[in-house]
Amino acid sequence: MKTNKNHQQKLEDLIIIMKKSGFLNDEKVESAIRKIPRNEFVPMSVKEKAYENAPLSIMKNQTISQPSVVSRMTEWLDIREGQKILEVGTGSGWQTAILSYLVGSGKVYSIERHSELVEFAKKNLDKLGINNVKIILGDGNLGIPEESPFDRIIITAACKKVPEPLLEQLSEGGLLIAPIGKYPQSLILLKKISQEIIEVKNQPGYVFVPLLGKIDEEK
Ligand code: SAH
Repeated sequence: MKTNKNHQQKLEDLIIIMKKSGFLNDEKVESAIRKIPRNEFVPMSVKEKAYENAPLSIMKNQTISQPSVVSRMTEWLDIREGQKILEVGTGSGWQTAILSYLVGSGKVYSIERHSELVEFAKKNLDKLGINNVKIILGDGNLGIPEESPFDRIIITAACKKVPEPLLEQLSEGGLLIAPIGKYPQSLILLKKISQEIIEVKNQPGYVFVPLLGKIDEEK
């Protein structure tokens, strides 16, 4: 009980920090961040730090993203009830769960290249009874052609350029967000209009783990 109270207080402090720094502005995104407990998405060793505004190590040398960055990406994506979303890079599943909350009757597809993380994220989502998410072990560079088009696509790992298949799998009027570049990255928001891709937003100064190739290769 004491731990829960602790988490709740830390969450309130985190929300204040994110609002003051301009990373959290949208009420719906705020309610998603309140509803999806980040402490359920981190390993025991870093539970104490779950409500710090920092990325944290999960496993396979990967990290759960920084809360303010998850908030910004989610806000830019302007998610609506009922949408179909593709996420590349499931990691812990925290961002996935936030998306799942916002789409409600819609669906989130999320691709992760490490089987261990696929299992970790599935377990985390199951604990919360989330059932509008499908996590797939694979190479996110390829997307999921058979489930396309997607209303929104989010890439949660740094890439040199947006993989072509993902642009193809974006719906007309759809939005795609990705960190682009080597180090640090710029967060870019793209929109597909009349089969053309236009850049809507571009903001430098982000750091993500890299988007890699084939499945489960580097040990
Ligand atoms: N948003 C997640 C963190 C993502 S870290 C969270 O908050 O927990 C980026 C993730 O992308 C890592 O789990 C990494 O394994 C995965 N990844 C990297 N390259 C990939 C690829 N080609 N296909 C699928 N997943 C990939």
